[in-house]
Amino acid sequence: MIAESGLLSTIEDKLYRVQYRHANESHIRVDQEICRGCHIERICLSICPAKVYSLEEGSGKILVNFENCLECGTCWIACTEGAIDWRNPQGGFGVRFQHG
Ligand code: SF4
Ligand code: SF4
Repeated sequence: MIAESGLLSTIEDKLYRVQYRHANESHIRVDQEICRGCHIERICLSICPAKVYSLEEGSGKILVNFENCLECGTCWIACTEGAIDWRNPQGGFGVRFQHG
């Protein structure tokens, strides 16, 4: 809920203000082989503020909802297994933040 003061109070409020222009191709790739042997408790699932990563039921495959990426780079640093190949989205695409 947006507080009366105009300040954004929750992460959902903040995400609502973010705009995306989606590229057709993902700028994030994960190496599923490495993920299968993940030794860091699948930290990508909990560390991403935009919940880009999820687990496919049954297969255990890591799914990447790249369209929601805020381009913060946290996952790339946090996955010390080296399974994430993260690049900037191609020119003109990606996230646009609204300030103020
Ligand atoms: S991306 Fe990294 S943290 Fe996530 S499951 Fe794969 S190896 Fe683990
Ligand atoms: S760069 Fe940030 S927002 Fe994008 S997938 Fe990684 S942690 Fe999530």
